[in-house]
Amino acid sequence: MSADAAPTGGADIDVAVFGGGIAGLWLARTLQDFGYSVQLLSLGALGAGQTLWAQGIVHGGVKYLLSGRSDPMSEALWKLPERWREHLSGARSPDLGGVRVRCDACYLLSSSRPWSRMRSFLGGRMLAGRVEKLARGERPEALRTVSGALYQLQDLVVDVPSLLAGLSEPLSCWNIEGRPLNLERREPGWCVHVGEASLCTRTLVFAAAAGNIDLSDLAGIAPTPVQRRPLRQIIVRSPGLPEVYTHCIGGGFGAEPELTITAHGSGAERVWSLGGAAATAEGLSDEALIGRARERLAAFLPGLCPPDAEWSVHRVVRVEPDAGGALPDRPYCEWASDDVLIAWPSKLTLAPLLGDMALERLGKALGEPTASDVRVELGMPRASVGAPPWLREAERAAA
Ligand SMILES: Cc1cc2nc3c(=O)[nH]c(=O)nc-3n(C[C@H](O)[C@H](O)[C@H](O)COP(=O)(O)OP(=O)(O)OC[C@H]3O[C@@H](n4cnc5c(N)ncnc54)[C@H](O)[C@@H]3O)c2cc1C
Repeated sequence: MSADAAPTGGADIDVAVFGGGIAGLWLARTLQDFGYSVQLLSLGALGAGQTLWAQGIVHGGVKYLLSGRSDPMSEALWKLPERWREHLSGARSPDLGGVRVRCDACYLLSSSRPWSRMRSFLGGRMLAGRVEKLARGERPEALRTVSGALYQLQDLVVDVPSLLAGLSEPLSCWNIEGRPLNLERREPGWCVHVGEASLCTRTLVFAAAAGNIDLSDLAGIAPTPVQRRPLRQIIVRSPGLPEVYTHCIGGGFGAEPELTITAHGSGAERVWSLGGAAATAEGLSDEALIGRARERLAAFLPGLCPPDAEWSVHRVVRVEPDAGGALPDRPYCEWASDDVLIAWPSKLTLAPLLGDMALERLGKALGEPTASDVRVELGMPRASVGAPPWLREAERAAA
């Protein structure tokens, strides 16, 4: 099908990807850059599920090793900051050259108490070249006066809205919200009916997190078992908050970070997003959780958070392939039938590995790309990047 045909539906494309989070966008870009014809369908704005909640940390695995997990997650993550830097510099496809990097190196602050095991671990041969202890004069401005040892990690922090914009820019992304969706088997392939429009495709990819269940139902295939992990995330809001991207470790070796702080937005919209044990602990009321996080923040970073900052607790549910309640340690990308691929990244950091897996599986099924110049007009709005979830109503409307 040539570019001139520009059909409304009826076109034979290679892949229809469902899901406008990091999973759908990364793998759609990977497949399109390789030459396949791809259309992405999103229920609502891009990123509006879990992705816009992400702190944007591209983990290198040290955080997981600190909590005593010398498991596959740490190994999977080891090389990922380097891999992301290749995309962010434009040296590797998908080219993310225009994406904003909020911080090129994340920090780890270890409380000043004498955790000798921790110190020797961080300074040990295993982490050589991956963790660097900073002298006071080498520290970033905001962390110059805090006490405790400060280490620089390979982890970087990307600006998530900018990442979503960079990935989606060359893609056809349709917002199917409010339109009835139907999936019709065609032998071979599928017809996707959205409202009045139709799109014929050789394969379907479901990368819609919780939406994968409904989509599997529509396609008449057994849904992949999932787990839901509810999470509370604390947002601190004040124009006076400095840019800080730091894991705070106080509990000694074997503990997860007490706080993981990332800065987002700017000026009057500056917020900190707080993750880590003290910000997400279960069994506490929201007020008690804020009280605990405030106390730990004041202990680790005294004076950095203005006393009149606004604190709020937000709820978000992580939806992942079933790992028996544990943290999944790799992306999931498996055929549910001959021509329906189910995908989950498990972490934003792991999206490039998900892209590789999807390309490998679809490459075997589809062979060489043949129709990369198909243009499709579905007569519905383009899906645009959603507003960060911590913005107030008025700010969201203006975003
Ligand atoms: C608070 C928090 C902080 C995090 N921080 C980090 C971090 O710093 N680093 C990191 O590596 N990971 C982090 N994560 C994990 C990361 O955010 C998720 O693993 C990742 O965003 C999941 O992406 P996804 O595309 O699978 O899902 P989602 O982002 O949930 O996207 C699914 C998309 O599918 C769409 N959809 C649903 N149904 C349909 C349908 N029927 N048709 C079409 N589209 C549909 C939804 O609208 C949504 O846009 C964090 C997670 C949370 C909750």
